[in-house]
Amino acid sequence: VERPESVHAMLESAVARRPDGVALVCGDLELTYRALDEAVGRVAGGLRALGVGKGDRVAMLLGNSVEFVVVLFAVARLGAVSVPLNIRHQLAENREIIEDCAARVVVHEPDLADRTPRPGEPPSLAHTVAVRRDGGPPLEALSGALAVSRAEPVGEDDAATILYTSGTTGRPKGAMLTHFSIAHSVIHYRIAMELTEEDRALIAVPMSHVTGLIALVDAMIHCAGTLVVMPSFKASEFIDLAARRRVTYSLLVPAMFALCLMAPNFAAADLSAWRVSGFGGAIMPEATLERIAARLPTLKLLNCYGATETTSPATIMPPDETAARKDSVGLAVPCGRIVVMDPDGVEARAGEPGEIWIGGAMVVPGYFNNPEATAREFVGGYWKSGDLGIRDADGYLRVVDRIKDVINRGGYKVFASEVENVLLGRPEIVEVAVVAKPCPVLGERVHAFVVLREAVEDSELQRHCAELLSDYKAPEAFHRVAGTLPRNANGKVLKRELRQALLA
Ligand code: ATP
Repeated sequence: VERPESVHAMLESAVARRPDGVALVCGDLELTYRALDEAVGRVAGGLRALGVGKGDRVAMLLGNSVEFVVVLFAVARLGAVSVPLNIRHQLAENREIIEDCAARVVVHEPDLADRTPRPGEPPSLAHTVAVRRDGGPPLEALSGALAVSRAEPVGEDDAATILYTSGTTGRPKGAMLTHFSIAHSVIHYRIAMELTEEDRALIAVPMSHVTGLIALVDAMIHCAGTLVVMPSFKASEFIDLAARRRVTYSLLVPAMFALCLMAPNFAAADLSAWRVSGFGGAIMPEATLERIAARLPTLKLLNCYGATETTSPATIMPPDETAARKDSVGLAVPCGRIVVMDPDGVEARAGEPGEIWIGGAMVVPGYFNNPEATAREFVGGYWKSGDLGIRDADGYLRVVDRIKDVINRGGYKVFASEVENVLLGRPEIVEVAVVAKPCPVLGERVHAFVVLREAVEDSELQRHCAELLSDYKAPEAFHRVAGTLPRNANGKVLKRELRQALLA
């Protein structure tokens, strides 16, 4: 499998090899590679007419759709940088990111107009363009009179896409995925999943997150296969679509597999074409894995562990080893390195726990315009994951817990500090701690403990969160504590005690 020179080169090569092959399927819409190429050219023309040039940032507020893929590659054709945003973000979250990356243009769905900042706010933002989703000729609103057919040359180390993650300090951090890091991750997925142009992949995870983007969108385009697009995940619809379209490959978070197991059509559906699936984003419960394997005995199930900062996979389970190593995330990808560090910065021995540090060609060079966070999290060629892991003598890694204060709600990461800061904006709240409550389906749910100086209704706190935070970040329950939160001698809140209280 050859490494592509750039994101755009992946599309060029697929168009040359398989012009009449179906690239994208969404509902009744089917787009061949030739048609995709033409749409990309027209939209690149439209973006160029808005002044977008090499290196400019274009934010995308688009759900899973044909339009997402067209805009992504149109931006790449101009040598510009795509910044996909989570469509569950509220206006304040989008504005902060658009300001941070100084995006020139935002392309958004009409339904998300009220969560899209206006031109001039922030000052870098010159244009916002609404495009309909899957509504006929792709992207009329953005099509330029002059199509762009030749790609702008880019360097391997240029950023292709910036993906934002929240952080402990509150300010979102833009991980710079380069043409180099993306090319390596795409190859890692292609080799592990043995992907070819015969494959039909189904994407139900968000295209705006690293794994959907790399493992499904980019990997399918690179092998000139077919990508079947689900605008949003519903287990029974996923199963029907996988059966009807004879899907061969997908990648899901564990919570999606858990929901499939509960869907009434899972037992009888003909999923015989589905030959391989990755899973990742959260720790996979062994019971879920066993039940999926029992229902789909010919499906290869490969654990993929990674993060935005590692352009998705850092480890992948080798094929045929899942059954014997259900609690492991596999081995480092071919161009990757993993070390497990003890708290003193010394490499832990096999079998001993420590922080997982990840190095290699797929690790991003840092965060956009944020040297402090880059210096803190990227050390000596490694990214410090904030995950606690154990490696055995053969190199197989197990992810056992987290060091970072993050709640993993069905694969969506919620930084506790971000939610705590929003709640501390309420005058009634003196102290707050946001913690995870275990959930058999989603893995974890968001709960808040609050100390109040005056009474406030839950509904009022919920309204406050809904205005400032994505829906999945808002606490599902507020537990009132009299006096003060439990703290250790250094004044740090004892979140473990609070989590225990939720189990009682
Ligand atoms: P995406 O954002 O596309 O869902 P992702 O979950 O891999 O991809 P991040 O949102 O950056 O990326 O989250 C990374 C974190 O997710 C890791 O640091 C780890 O805590 C958790 N994680 C990812 N994959 C696994 C896995 N296979 N097993 C356990 N935890 C995982």
